[in-house]
Amino acid sequence: MGRNLNPKCKQCRRTGQKLFLKGERCNSPKCAMVKRNFPPGIHGSKGYGRLTDFGVQLREKQKAKKIYRLMEAQLKNYFQKASKARGNTENALWQYLEMRLDNIVFRTGYAKSRDFARQLISHGHFLVNNKKVNIPSFQAKIGDLITLKEKSKNNKIFGNLKEQFKKAEPVSWLAIDLNKLEVKVTSKPDLPEAKGEFEPKLVIEFYSK
Ligand code: SF4
Repeated sequence: MGRNLNPKCKQCRRTGQKLFLKGERCNSPKCAMVKRNFPPGIHGSKGYGRLTDFGVQLREKQKAKKIYRLMEAQLKNYFQKASKARGNTENALWQYLEMRLDNIVFRTGYAKSRDFARQLISHGHFLVNNKKVNIPSFQAKIGDLITLKEKSKNNKIFGNLKEQFKKAEPVSWLAIDLNKLEVKVTSKPDLPEAKGEFEPKLVIEFYSK
């Protein structure tokens, strides 16, 4: 499957927002959005300029793709599913994105970025309800238990897992067991809890045209 291979910091600078694509560096003074908070390119230093309504919708759609590391067709597919879902379409879109296994692995601190989460899942380190799942886009459900494969628990990548779990910003729909080093999905994410990383409403507007 294709991926966005543009330099990660340039993706943030193009968007005008921290997208947290590089793990710890994103929270350090080395972050390019701290050092060069203007778009890349020769005219970048002129700043971000004003956008039309369409431009704003396009920017939010691009943000969602970059944050969740998706290709255009994948995001559009989530939009189509969300449009058919019962209830609020914005909420449904956001839930589809947040309930991806790679997102959960990232949010809970198993991995420092979504790209790394995707790599760890593809390499077969994770079990969902005691069954190996190596598909990053796997949609988790309420009640799912996410654990490391027994053999992976001794892998040095996960040597500091308790500390990583403690550092992760808690989200209400995921319960982390620090002793067993496992994660349970306790509910579905609800839009008011979104951290303002992108505006689902504007993504819906973009695709609804
Ligand atoms: Fe974006 Fe800063 Fe992380 Fe680079 S270091 S990916 S600019 S948030």
